[in-house]
Amino acid sequence: LSEKLQNVFKNLRRKGRLTEEDVKAALKEVKLALLEADVNFKVVKNFVKSVQERAVGSDVMNGLNPGQMVIKIVNEEMVKLMGSETTEIALKPGIAITVIMMAGLQGAGKTTTTAKIAGKLKQKGKKPLLAACDVYRPAAIAQLQTNGEKQGVEVFSMGDSHKPVNIAKAAVEHASKNGFNVVILDTAGRLHIDEEMMDELIEIKEQVDVSQTILVVDSMTGQDAVNVASTFEEKIGIDGVVLTKLDGDTRGGAALSIRAVTGKPILYIGMGEKLSDLEQFYPDRMASRILGMGDVLTLIEKAQEDLDETKAAEMEKRLRKAQFTFDDYLESMNQMKKMGGLTSILSMMPGMGGSQMKQIEDAVDEKKMARIEAMIYSMTARERSGQDGLSPSRKRRIANGAGVDISDVNRLVKQFDQMKKMMKQMPGMMGKGKRGGKFG
Ligand code: GDP
Ligand code: MG
Repeated sequence: LSEKLQNVFKNLRRKGRLTEEDVKAALKEVKLALLEADVNFKVVKNFVKSVQERAVGSDVMNGLNPGQMVIKIVNEEMVKLMGSETTEIALKPGIAITVIMMAGLQGAGKTTTTAKIAGKLKQKGKKPLLAACDVYRPAAIAQLQTNGEKQGVEVFSMGDSHKPVNIAKAAVEHASKNGFNVVILDTAGRLHIDEEMMDELIEIKEQVDVSQTILVVDSMTGQDAVNVASTFEEKIGIDGVVLTKLDGDTRGGAALSIRAVTGKPILYIGMGEKLSDLEQFYPDRMASRILGMGDVLTLIEKAQEDLDETKAAEMEKRLRKAQFTFDDYLESMNQMKKMGGLTSILSMMPGMGGSQMKQIEDAVDEKKMARIEAMIYSMTARERSGQDGLSPSRKRRIANGAGVDISDVNRLVKQFDQMKKMMKQMPGMMGKGKRGGKFG
């Protein structure tokens, strides 16, 4: 598939903006990749449509061809769709008891995941109790007990002659009497969605104060995962999802489908049968796995870095000629913000005292950046070149134009002068840093 993709890329000419044709050609391959990854076809259809709308007319980034630019957008949209960042199970603070109900079809991995989550919570300093509410599957209770023992977590069981809801209630009572602050209910699944299973879960939810219902889904079930997730969400309501068996060769399209259909976050992924094989869910990693275009994505990342480097190199060239302008100032502030480690860079500069450092650092603050931008944009081209000083009347005009105080303009000029001096001292700084020797 990636070969096919590369061909698409080759065939596309380099141009400034994405045309509808570019986007359609690249999205055709994306569509195949998603279907191959077992993303539900309806989800694929909607997703591709929304990406198409966003992509047509977008600028093609330097260093990318149109096809790659489309993939970049696809990847971003996938990450956005899957939640942008990791989500944790919501736990009540202190001694308050959080009741977590596990739900899912038989064989999805509920019992295993119950024990895995217990281990994670224990690491966090919680005191979890596991409740054996699967009274149907032979050996289900013994399985939970074995797993609980391995994790060093107590298992509450009443055998198989009680109703699950009563076991759940008794477990919560046991927890409150014995200082447990999390109760995880390991419930029974069925081979397929059926009323009895749903009713059982609904009954537990009605009679026990369940604060988190976690759906466990086998990632290998692919397209079926959507039906499972949407039915559970509809009938009992879920708070989050654990996707199991991602250690196999499935590309994990279920992650995208489930998130798109239920809107509920994926909390963890199961990466094996061992109880330590439970990992945090990272939307960006999952997007790359589902797309199956690791190489392309790496290339895109590289292009992004190169772009920043190109800008930095240009600035450095100007700096060497000592033509530091207000535009450069703005650009350097933006770059520094991106680099993050402003304090660490500045602390290495000779003659940069604490207060000066703080001033510059303060200026990188979001709101102040906007003000600085407004002031610089209120300058004439000549003023922006920073070659001659600004007279009070000019300063007043700039202040008026930007809707700020004249003192703000004064501060900007002062900081600009400081930065200019600093830049001259160290021309290598805004480059990759490597040329600058001790700053590499
Ligand atoms: P339940 O019926 O939902 O309780 O499912 P189980 O917890 O009993 O798991 C069913 C089978 O899937 C067991 O053999 C587990 O070892 C296996 N399993 C569960 N999670 C994972 C996983 O993340 N990776 C792999 N490879 N196997 C898993
Ligand atoms: Mg089970």
